[in-house]
Amino acid sequence: PEVITVQELANRMAEKATDAIRVLMKMGMMVTINENLDQDTAELVVRELGHLPKRVSEADVEIGLVGEEDNLEDMQVRPPVVTIMGHVDHGKTSLLDALRETDVASGEAGGITQHIGAYQVTLSSGARITFLDTPGHEAFTQMRARGARVTDLVVIVVAADDGIMPQTIEAINHAKAANVPMIIAINKMDAPGASADRVRQELLQHDVQVEAMGGDVLDVEVSALKRQNLDKLEEAILLQSEVLELKANPNRAAEGVVVEAKLEKGRGPVATLLVARGTLRVGDIVVAGAEWGKVRAMVDERGRQLDEAAPARPVEILGLNGAPSAGDDFSVVDSEGRARDVSQYRQQQQRKRRQFTTPTSIEGMFSQLK
Ligand code: GDP
Ligand code: MG
Repeated sequence: PEVITVQELANRMAEKATDAIRVLMKMGMMVTINENLDQDTAELVVRELGHLPKRVSEADVEIGLVGEEDNLEDMQVRPPVVTIMGHVDHGKTSLLDALRETDVASGEAGGITQHIGAYQVTLSSGARITFLDTPGHEAFTQMRARGARVTDLVVIVVAADDGIMPQTIEAINHAKAANVPMIIAINKMDAPGASADRVRQELLQHDVQVEAMGGDVLDVEVSALKRQNLDKLEEAILLQSEVLELKANPNRAAEGVVVEAKLEKGRGPVATLLVARGTLRVGDIVVAGAEWGKVRAMVDERGRQLDEAAPARPVEILGLNGAPSAGDDFSVVDSEGRARDVSQYRQQQQRKRRQFTTPTSIEGMFSQLK
């Protein structure tokens, strides 16, 4: 669209409208949430709030891929989506495994067993948290490079017996650049030589002030190995989420992001989608990146068949006619004809783009971030 309201712009970034208004005020514009912004102004606001602007092409508008804006009264609280980052061997995988076991809703299906790139745990309080199960900075960076905003907050794991290391600093920088709040998990508290205070001191040198140091970054001492204080970490995540006021409208056609996708023998293209807004249902016609298909089946991280998926729920879907890329967006459209058109158009665009990009530059970009 040519213009976008302040409210809708904030919704799409999952930021508060007041923060967008504050940025606009700094730019000398006094506006209300209903003010229409032109694309250039909107883009400045998006950058100022630490996001990557993504212009919607006119073609997407024409084919109806751009959803209607949500009314405030339709917005409902949704679970946070969390990414775990940190230096190699500081315990990212161990922590993801340990957190997976804190799920209380597994029932007879027997726990979270499938690795679909993301999982959601339900805590005994009933609160839910979605974790991206793709540790490492690449997935995060790759998604950001594609303009996908998937993560609401980042947990940075620091081993208490090792302290701040190069990839810790990199993780801190990623979170800051993306304007995503961080929580520090001081891991390996059971290990000989563990010192949480040393970690806090070192963080200070990198401009991260945890609460004990007079700042507002939450930190939690944990042991992934001994399963200690995982509940405290989850509490911190929920506390931080409340501040962020994470909301989405579940009653609309689903939109979201592709977390991962692959071709599986005997199953065909399999994609893990994370619903950002709306509700995804079996039978929906989906365009994901340049691929499309009818959702034939949806499976969650416990291997259970689902009929529908609400905001922040990751699901593995069958039915696409090809594998999209991680970080691609997806939308539900109302007819197969439309889906085919969009997919064709996007494939054309991809071919054009490939002609103009030198592979070395892209590869160089990602290998630097490893
Ligand atoms: P990643 O590279 O960040 O994914 O780290 P891993 O989860 O693979 O853990 C690296 C090593 O640290 C493994 O040998 C783990 O068993 C060990 N480790 C992870 N968490 C803890 C912990 O809380 N305490 C101790 N003592 N060791 C841990
Ligand atoms: Mg690992």
